[in-house]
Amino acid sequence: MKLIFEKSVQGRSSAYLPPCDVECADLPESLRRESAPRLPELSETDVSRHYTELNHNVHGVNCGFYPLGSCTMKYNPRIDEEIAALPGFTGIHPLAPAHAVKGCREVLDTARRYLCEITGMDDMTFQPAAGAHGEFTGVLLIKQYHDARGDKKRTKIIVPDSAHGTNPATAAMCGYQVVNIASAPNGCVDLEALKAALGEDTAGLMLTNPNTVGIFDENILEITRLVHEAGGLCYYDGANLNAVMGVVRPGDMGFDCIHLNLHKTFATPHGGGGPGAGAVGCKETLKPYLPASALMDGGEHVQVRSFAGNFLVVVKALAYLLTLGREGVPEAAQNAVLNANYLMEKIKPAFRPAFDRLCMHEFVLDLGEFKKETGVSALDVAKSLIDYGMHPPTMYFPLIVHEALMLEPTETESKETLDWAADVFRQLSELARKDPEFMHAAPHNAQIGRPDEVRAARSPVLRYTF
Ligand SMILES: *Cc1c(COP(=O)(O)O)cnc(C)c1O
Repeated sequence: MKLIFEKSVQGRSSAYLPPCDVECADLPESLRRESAPRLPELSETDVSRHYTELNHNVHGVNCGFYPLGSCTMKYNPRIDEEIAALPGFTGIHPLAPAHAVKGCREVLDTARRYLCEITGMDDMTFQPAAGAHGEFTGVLLIKQYHDARGDKKRTKIIVPDSAHGTNPATAAMCGYQVVNIASAPNGCVDLEALKAALGEDTAGLMLTNPNTVGIFDENILEITRLVHEAGGLCYYDGANLNAVMGVVRPGDMGFDCIHLNLHKTFATPHGGGGPGAGAVGCKETLKPYLPASALMDGGEHVQVRSFAGNFLVVVKALAYLLTLGREGVPEAAQNAVLNANYLMEKIKPAFRPAFDRLCMHEFVLDLGEFKKETGVSALDVAKSLIDYGMHPPTMYFPLIVHEALMLEPTETESKETLDWAADVFRQLSELARKDPEFMHAAPHNAQIGRPDEVRAARSPVLRYTF
């Protein structure tokens, strides 16, 4: 597809500016540019077709199945967008006096109360703009806690090897040494490895439960007890809360601090690169260190971002919670778990799950043996799915499974879609035995096939050069 600059034809335009009805003023020479900007020149039809073509080349939740694990690519109800677009929410100014934005403050406070109830936390801030930003904020709370007690010897954060990559990165950004502990064969925390890692230098543990292989750690109470006994605190990565919201609470599992990705679980789409919110909740003990609270009370709080964070994301989260209600929230979680287990069982005859047991909201396929038998890798399968109109699952993550495909169907998919997806996987497992070469070259019907991913990441071309 041509870039918009390449479609440009000199002199063509679609400007409908009215004639100027005020006196023209000359800009001083020093402010004038020397040459005209090189903007693309196109007719309205061309512009419309260009963006429609781009739209057709993008795969979104509105186009088809998008089982990208650890990302919660679910369908978000339109009503949440509509409510967040109300002028009373979009027209406010961050410096407006409190009495002028009472309704907005109430939104923040109500969302804070509901999400604290769902997570079992005592307070929450909406300042952080993303999950990783929330982690950073949360681990800084833990640091502040130890510092305030004069406990300077706690220099280490324990992170299991199945963790999301942002966890060790966060601990390191906060100045901690990262202690990796190996998972047990069932994908959960190895209690002996945890005990061996714990000590007087432990500041805390970062964990997600269900973990990144989609399994709920049954030893969770023992895990958090051991960390507390050693004087550390427990951080819960609640980026994908789908599996447990309204069913069990991280606060009751013994966690002291949590972040939620409102842009995964609570009605803001994830993956569009748009604004997000990494709400950070904490127990009473950490409350004094929380950045400016949801209520923008203007006290002497630290800030990790300007004002109250991405406010409209919070509006969507509250609209979502209010439309689902007390029964709907756990029902969504149960459906997320049901859909994942249903799909795993249907795919199982074709591809082996890495952990063949009841999963939560997502599961991991292990294509190690499959690759040995057929020569077809997880990457080949992922690329082949594109030709069927399915977005590939998360690949090669978690790192503890080598040929991993990680699927998260989410609660918003129908049985028909899941049946179709399972059938596509079955067809691909047959194709791999018949025509592996075809799969090595997939996708065959996409604009971009197999880009050089290292070059794309290390030396991206972000600017058009004429
Ligand atoms: C998505 C995710 C994050 C990071 O969230 P961002 O908003 O992308 O920074 C952290 N942990 C887990 C488990 C996630 O799935």
